[in-house]
Amino acid sequence: MSTPNVGVLALQGAFREHIRLFDSLGVSARGVRTPEDLIGLDALTIPGGESTTISRLAADLGVLEPVTQLVKAGLPIFGTCAGMIMLADEVIDGRTDQQSFGGLQITVRRNAFGRQTESFEAPVSMPILGDSPFPGVFIRAPWVEQVGEEVEVWGQIERPEGSRIVAVRQGPVVATAFHPELADDDRLHRKFLSLI
Ligand code: GLN
Repeated sequence: MSTPNVGVLALQGAFREHIRLFDSLGVSARGVRTPEDLIGLDALTIPGGESTTISRLAADLGVLEPVTQLVKAGLPIFGTCAGMIMLADEVIDGRTDQQSFGGLQITVRRNAFGRQTESFEAPVSMPILGDSPFPGVFIRAPWVEQVGEEVEVWGQIERPEGSRIVAVRQGPVVATAFHPELADDDRLHRKFLSLI
């Protein structure tokens, strides 16, 4: 098939790194800032950053509602960190005025890993990608506390208190609590492209 039109929501956060990674895979992704930029996309990536800021800018620039509709309509979406929060149906410890696109049947806890471990790297067990774990870069990351019936758990990490869900897939929507665009591993981006 011809290369897909991939958009990366470019309001705030690590959108350049996603664009660079897609480029390295031969897919020229474009930054999305306005409702018009969404036209003709085959897939959309929602990067990490700060979900409260992304929420505010998305509302101000008029993309909150159209992206919400595209998720509902089944557009393949890849959300990472703040992007996962933006896709979650329920957010614990969100700011009261923050809005989400929703559509992904998960409950996430924002900034879940606490102060001491605001940023860390940890291997994520992801059998869907093969035997070797994915190098997870976690930056004030959320974790997934609950998943709905249609959600497949794709990745977990081990914590002293037990394992935590940090990657999920529901139909054409993939979301990770970590930043795959900052890791030296393109397996997740390639896996996402295979769903389009
Ligand atoms: N803690 C941030 C938020 O609430 C997410 C951090 C990230 O995307 N690296 O949006």
